[in-house]
Amino acid sequence: MNTITSSSVFPSLSRIAVLATGGTIAGAAADATNTSGYQAGVVGVDQLLAVVPALSSVARIAAEQIASVDSKDMAMPLWTTLAQRINTLLASDEIDGVVVTHGTDTLEETAYLLHLTVKSDKPVVLTAAMRPASALSADGPLNLLNAVTVAAHAGSRGQGVLVAFNNRIHSARDVVKTSTYAVDAFQSPEVGALGWVQDGRVEFQRSVVRPHTLATEFVIGPNWPLVEIVTSYAGVSRLAVDALVGAGVRGIVVAGTGNGSIHASVQQALADAASQGVAVVRSSRVGSGHVMRNGAAADDALGFISAGSLNPYKARVLLMLALAAGGAGPVALQKVFDTY
Ligand code: ASP
Repeated sequence: MNTITSSSVFPSLSRIAVLATGGTIAGAAADATNTSGYQAGVVGVDQLLAVVPALSSVARIAAEQIASVDSKDMAMPLWTTLAQRINTLLASDEIDGVVVTHGTDTLEETAYLLHLTVKSDKPVVLTAAMRPASALSADGPLNLLNAVTVAAHAGSRGQGVLVAFNNRIHSARDVVKTSTYAVDAFQSPEVGALGWVQDGRVEFQRSVVRPHTLATEFVIGPNWPLVEIVTSYAGVSRLAVDALVGAGVRGIVVAGTGNGSIHASVQQALADAASQGVAVVRSSRVGSGHVMRNGAAADDALGFISAGSLNPYKARVLLMLALAAGGAGPVALQKVFDTY
């Protein structure tokens, strides 16, 4: 599907591709008061756009339905399709920026993946909603308008992949979902949002420091090394780690306690895995802060890598890309984590 709207009315407006993937923003429930028992990803992109007539004075829109999934079911082949489509669109002189509508559940993972693999400095902005399209006070329409506004804004160029949600603009690297139900569901812990968008106005208050998009070594491809996540908690056994190693996993991210500390039983299992060539990355389950190398575990001795300020889910994205790019060994992989 490809719909261009309002092109002849405002020929000087930015040309923004809106790529829909599903999620609650495209969700529908049996009645307007139901915001938890609904089906995600059933409303088409044309309908999402139709309820926001103000879009036509912000941008010329080319709409595509890439997928219709609940983002809890996001999978790597769809990541490959989405990233490749964005790269194709942004390589064209006909498109100035991209907006992706997505579910909130794995939005932070998709956003970071695109941040590392989009090969353009044109804006890419993800948005979503906490309430389905059928709800009273649905948040999707305004989030969509704001996302297109951010994508059409000159200051968004070169900032990497952005997330526009509930009037705030976040960097894909920093943003995380922090509420199961609130409309203000996304935060950038420790560092805060990059800026805000309101009533057509966009303001950036800081910029992105770490390399992204054109400045990374990563390209999107069809191959995804097997990388899984394990958690450390009271009474945890080494069963999960041993099973993953037996299954041939290439990398394991551990969501450690505190500053990436790991229960002794799991730490031994992970040390055994590292000695067999499995990449082991220490992150934290805490939700903010960073994991210091050689802080809560002796990384040098155990052959572990520290995730720094990446949460376990984003650390997994980076580890998969690094391994796919041929990265190997804790020294080289630590450099990747220190860089991105
Ligand atoms: N399960 C939904 C999804 O991630 C939740 C949402 O979009 O808010 O697709």
